[in-house]
Amino acid sequence: MRDVIASRSLAKQSPSLNGRLPQSVRSHNNIYWGTMKYSDLNIQTQRDAPNNARTEGFAFLVRAGYLTRENIPTQLGEITLNHLRNLSSTPSFLSQLLLPIIGNDDESFLPIASGPIEVAHCSSCKYTERLAFARFVKTPLPQEDELPLEKVLTPDCHTIEALANYLDVPKEKTAKALMYTRVSDDRFIFFVVRGDMQLSEAKLKQHVGEVRAATAEEIERAGAAAGYASPIQLKNAMIIVDDLIPQSQNLVAGANETGYHFKNTNYGRDYSAEKVEDLIQVKAGDACINCGNPLSILPVISLATRSEYEFQNILLALAETYHDGKGLTLPHPAAPFDVYLMQVPGKETDTRAKAKEIYNNLKNAAIEVLFDDRDERAGVKFNDADLIGFPVRITVGEKGLKEGMVELKPRQEKENQLVPIDKIIEKTKSILK
Ligand SMILES: [Zn+2]
Repeated sequence: MRDVIASRSLAKQSPSLNGRLPQSVRSHNNIYWGTMKYSDLNIQTQRDAPNNARTEGFAFLVRAGYLTRENIPTQLGEITLNHLRNLSSTPSFLSQLLLPIIGNDDESFLPIASGPIEVAHCSSCKYTERLAFARFVKTPLPQEDELPLEKVLTPDCHTIEALANYLDVPKEKTAKALMYTRVSDDRFIFFVVRGDMQLSEAKLKQHVGEVRAATAEEIERAGAAAGYASPIQLKNAMIIVDDLIPQSQNLVAGANETGYHFKNTNYGRDYSAEKVEDLIQVKAGDACINCGNPLSILPVISLATRSEYEFQNILLALAETYHDGKGLTLPHPAAPFDVYLMQVPGKETDTRAKAKEIYNNLKNAAIEVLFDDRDERAGVKFNDADLIGFPVRITVGEKGLKEGMVELKPRQEKENQLVPIDKIIEKTKSILK
């Protein structure tokens, strides 16, 4: 896992790029000048989704020819990633992309079904944290008077479940023991959490550093008994308890003797700890640390940390967020090209020559255009334009040209518009705003 340390909000400020691609990269990039011809790009679109696609976004990135089935960027994919890299030097880069991002000061995420990371997320106040580090409001059990310590026979009660069943007590009235050895100095560390809760190894490592499971010999040397361990009367052990333990009276804990447990152990009276910390891993439904709303656990991909962006994940996030049944529907300015320009071969008119002229005009107006200059049927080009998903498609056809018009279609809208040739640039720019 990457190191992520808090200091500022990604949503408000973009990370420094530590000398990565400068703004001027586009103009020095051999393969990309903002405008290109389809035939130079060697785009390979595909009719069918790859059978290994775990999400619709990935399937469309492969079908539209941005990625191979093996998730490797093609030339079009590389151009798009470079485009995103260039864009990332502008302020509030991520917010420009209009993605449904969740996150915190350290990291930005996009929820996605197959995401490899799990976060806890509050739909009310938007609190978001990696699962291992997420915090929640713990509710102590009602306060009780401390009862006398009592040693009881508990045969074959190696687990909290078996113990709770055997003594007929709820799991939250038991103390769970976890024994580790610190790697740096071989210190034996004894953790105590309430029996109904799950220890977060990530949190415990935050407090003590790297650990490994204690060996049977180390457990015995500390005076504990595996399966029946207790923090009471240990030798040379560092004891760390969850912050709920000092508020929990009369818990059942091991008696450090095989086959026996103590009833009514009480922190402070029977043992104490070097540290009292939050050690618990959040679960779905636990109360948000900020607002008390139930937390959800969501699979996500990481889009950015404080120090760097994950551009390929951002591309996937765009595809997940922006597609319809026909293909990608990338917004400006995320799309690598703003216009997909194509000509439909005419019977009397040289539509290609006219399209070429429009291509040069768009290029001179600093509009980023991909010119589909192939001799393909109109239907094939329309399908590819929909799959590839740039914001605007311009079609140069014989019928329109006779009236001095071209067909212009915003990708995210259903209807075409007929636009006079001398208004193309103005109209395109107004759509891209
Ligand atoms: Zn909340």
